Amino acid sequence: MAGSVVRLARGGFHDECGVCAVLGHPDAANLVYLGLYALQHRGQESAGIAAFDGRELRAYKEMGHVADVFDRERLEQLSGWAAVGHVRYSTAGDSTLVNAQPVVAKTHRGQLALSHNGNLVNAIRLRHDLEQQGAIFQSTSDSEVFLHLLARSKAPTLEAALVETLDAAVGAYSLAVLCDGRLFAARDPHGFRPLVLGRLGEAWVVASETCAFDLIEARLVRQVGPGEIVELSGEEPRVLRPAAPGPHAHCVFEHVYFARPDSEVFGENVGMARERMGGQLAREHPARADVVVAVPDSGVPAALGFSRESGIPFVLGLVRNHYVGRTFIEPRQSIRHFGVKIKLNPVRSVVEGKRVVLVDDSIVRGTTSRKIVMMLKAAGASEVHLRICSPPTVGPCFYGIDTPERRELIASAKSVEEIRAYVGADSLGYLSEAGMLSCLTSPSESFCTACFSLDYRVLDQEHAEVIEKHKR
Ligand code: AMP
Repeated sequence: MAGSVVRLARGGFHDECGVCAVLGHPDAANLVYLGLYALQHRGQESAGIAAFDGRELRAYKEMGHVADVFDRERLEQLSGWAAVGHVRYSTAGDSTLVNAQPVVAKTHRGQLALSHNGNLVNAIRLRHDLEQQGAIFQSTSDSEVFLHLLARSKAPTLEAALVETLDAAVGAYSLAVLCDGRLFAARDPHGFRPLVLGRLGEAWVVASETCAFDLIEARLVRQVGPGEIVELSGEEPRVLRPAAPGPHAHCVFEHVYFARPDSEVFGENVGMARERMGGQLAREHPARADVVVAVPDSGVPAALGFSRESGIPFVLGLVRNHYVGRTFIEPRQSIRHFGVKIKLNPVRSVVEGKRVVLVDDSIVRGTTSRKIVMMLKAAGASEVHLRICSPPTVGPCFYGIDTPERRELIASAKSVEEIRAYVGADSLGYLSEAGMLSCLTSPSESFCTACFSLDYRVLDQEHAEVIEKHKR
């Protein structure tokens, strides 16, 4: 899912999400729960599952991580052979339970549950029109728009209503929809967010990323094509709307940062793509250094690629604490860089006296990089050469990745040299856009690079005007 409509109106906060669904398995909810566990990186704020047993749709959603939201008792209450689940992350404002997914409703079409990853750019307009017609919204999430459109459609069949609904939606959507035991999967015609189909014995599985399949030992069948709507039943998915011809707009940031390195996304392995990008980064911005250090975890594959290409040894110079929660109690006398320090610790004996190449996937506000560079220097690194495995992030995402407003993006206002000075590195190099795209198997024009290039494929009027102003 889905930026909330309210926050979108305030200027560009968005949510990151993961979806998972199973049809035709007696343990459907349990499998979805495990799938969501594997997709936890896509959203840590709320988790939910809706399950159908042939008679009733039952749902449970709560704020928190999958492991905290569900226990055995809760899962046992979600009995049935079909289930759809969701993990959601949002940064501010509307991180409330009403916005948690799947969105569920009893409609004249049946008992409906829907999980959405992405962001509609025409959600505000659609919602306004629906409200004018008397629709009462329960949440501020744009995903609820789908529900109202589906419930109100006059189309004769559920399939036709679904096609009509999705034809009205503009922007990014990867969806799993469960209606009275029928499971549908759909992707927007640009194919912004990933969505894959798999099988587990006779059962069908849908997920944002293949890492969800690996955990439950499901077999990847194929991606849902951009623009495609399928019903999952029998041996072959039944196509309700065929895939749209390209050029598509797959989110390149899934490969840079968002997706898990063990997943196949847009037809290729994420970790290997990141390693190739790290190699390309080493060719574009070589450094005279003694060691390559990754910012864990996201910088690790790129740092390996950099190390392999440059011949500079990869060392574990920063160690991540994986058990850090959302809040921590700081001692009265505050500790410098506490927020970063509690997560990442430089290893003095590894970096002391060394010229370090520090590799990270991206710089957003620049605050993390600045603190890490300072920590490495405090730990004795003689030089820190920062290498970023993507181009400067200059624009917000309107398609489902959480990025701050443009003015908070350091690269939107500062030059590379100014950023280098701000973060305190001895040198700074960003991977070029062409270099990044050359490391991916699909053709360059099939990727959305808007956060790096301001080349937005679809925008509503309001955002188009803002972006045009920025470009000038
Ligand atoms: P910053 O201090 O804002 O520059 O943070 C940069 C770090 O945030 C990088 O190490 C990235 O791995 C990470 N990052 C990049 N994009 C996102 C995102 N959309 N959500 C959360 N973390 C991100």
